[in-house]
Amino acid sequence: MDGIKIYRGVNQIGGIVTEIRKGDHRILIDFGASLPGTDKAESTDDELVNKVFSDRDVKTDAVLFTHYHGDHVGLKNRIPADIPLYAGSTAIEIMRLIAVGVDFVKIKNGKENEIEMPVINRIKPYWRLGTYRDFSGIKVMPLVCDHSALDAYMFVIELNGKRILYTGDFRAHGIPGHSTFEKMITQRVGKTDILVTEGTMVSRIAESAYNPIRTEAQLKQKAMEIFSSHRENVVLVSSTNIDSVMSFYNAVPEGMAFVCDPYQARIMKIAIEARHKYFPGDYRYRENINIICSDDNEYCMRDLKAFKVPGTDRHPFVMARWEPINEKGFVMLARPDRNPAVKPGKFKSLVDKMNDPFIVYSMWGGYLKGGKAEDLAVVSFMDGHMGAGHMELLHTSGHAYVEDLARLMDMTEPGMIIPMHTESVEDFAKAEAFGKFISRIETKNVGEVYEI
Ligand SMILES: [Zn+2]
Repeated sequence: MDGIKIYRGVNQIGGIVTEIRKGDHRILIDFGASLPGTDKAESTDDELVNKVFSDRDVKTDAVLFTHYHGDHVGLKNRIPADIPLYAGSTAIEIMRLIAVGVDFVKIKNGKENEIEMPVINRIKPYWRLGTYRDFSGIKVMPLVCDHSALDAYMFVIELNGKRILYTGDFRAHGIPGHSTFEKMITQRVGKTDILVTEGTMVSRIAESAYNPIRTEAQLKQKAMEIFSSHRENVVLVSSTNIDSVMSFYNAVPEGMAFVCDPYQARIMKIAIEARHKYFPGDYRYRENINIICSDDNEYCMRDLKAFKVPGTDRHPFVMARWEPINEKGFVMLARPDRNPAVKPGKFKSLVDKMNDPFIVYSMWGGYLKGGKAEDLAVVSFMDGHMGAGHMELLHTSGHAYVEDLARLMDMTEPGMIIPMHTESVEDFAKAEAFGKFISRIETKNVGEVYEI
């Protein structure tokens, strides 16, 4: 039956697999693992893989990844080796960088057969953006969009004369989204027949109303205020949430030092190279990036040390020397340690040595003590630093606010709206913000086909 089938990720944030089918051919969009802390998963990862590949008569022409978050790519190793895989070229670079560390741990734990690099090496970059590729009658045009992952994609899909917009995870309030969202939708997408959209924030309206920081621009502004009034600033942020990382980097007051580790620096380098042409205000090298090397061994920044800003003689990456940095005051990016029970990691050890660190917590509040998906690594990092005056929550969502979803509906005028990536499709189907579009929302269970 030709149409759209969501295998997982209707009443579930993440763990996504969607099928677009024509005759006995199909493409799949994403192949994600269930996020930790998912209340009741629609299926286990094993059940999902079995279901997707149980029909041996259908040929999978490609798997298209929207972005590199685990809930969209986490099960990529389970895709048969003869199926072509696609993702954004910068997203592939970042996946490779992540895999270096992940595979190292896997090999150390005797899980060589689960390493990720061979699969990542199979992923091809998308064809020319804004143009279609035909997969056995399913035509797909990738469009780069704003999300808390760099180089994320939406797709315009043409199937049986119908025009579909498949949004993937997106937002309109990051560094790129702020200026490009409306232009992209009106110029590249326009009127669509079917809108398949994420709806993460629909169940988080109250939560987001409580957070006064709505956009990355506001986050940067607030970070500047905080950094100006504290000397030892520590920012707990996901290293791959690049817009926020760049906002914090750009919020460092004149004369203060910016500090991070080689992994974070390498991601920043990839991001700046990919984006500085398009967003020269926020994606540029503005001062020395001080790298923390374990045991003061410079080997860990071998490639970074040699790097020069193209067209100049500037080496932006330098090894951190704590004495002068301490004197000036600093902003340090940090990560929680994955094995806090085994030994405190380098960031926690550094924080413990500081006089009066101020922690900017820039991750989802649900990971904190008593949160919805309490994360031991986060809890133990924050232990002793949760008091008022010692930390501040400063986080923007990676997902579109409800008013932006409504704006998207206005701009695309879809005849049918299919919600996914929600905590509750029922909430989505009755969200007042959607006005006249409410009657066009159709919900089905996972595994049921929206026929086209
Ligand atoms: Zn997601």
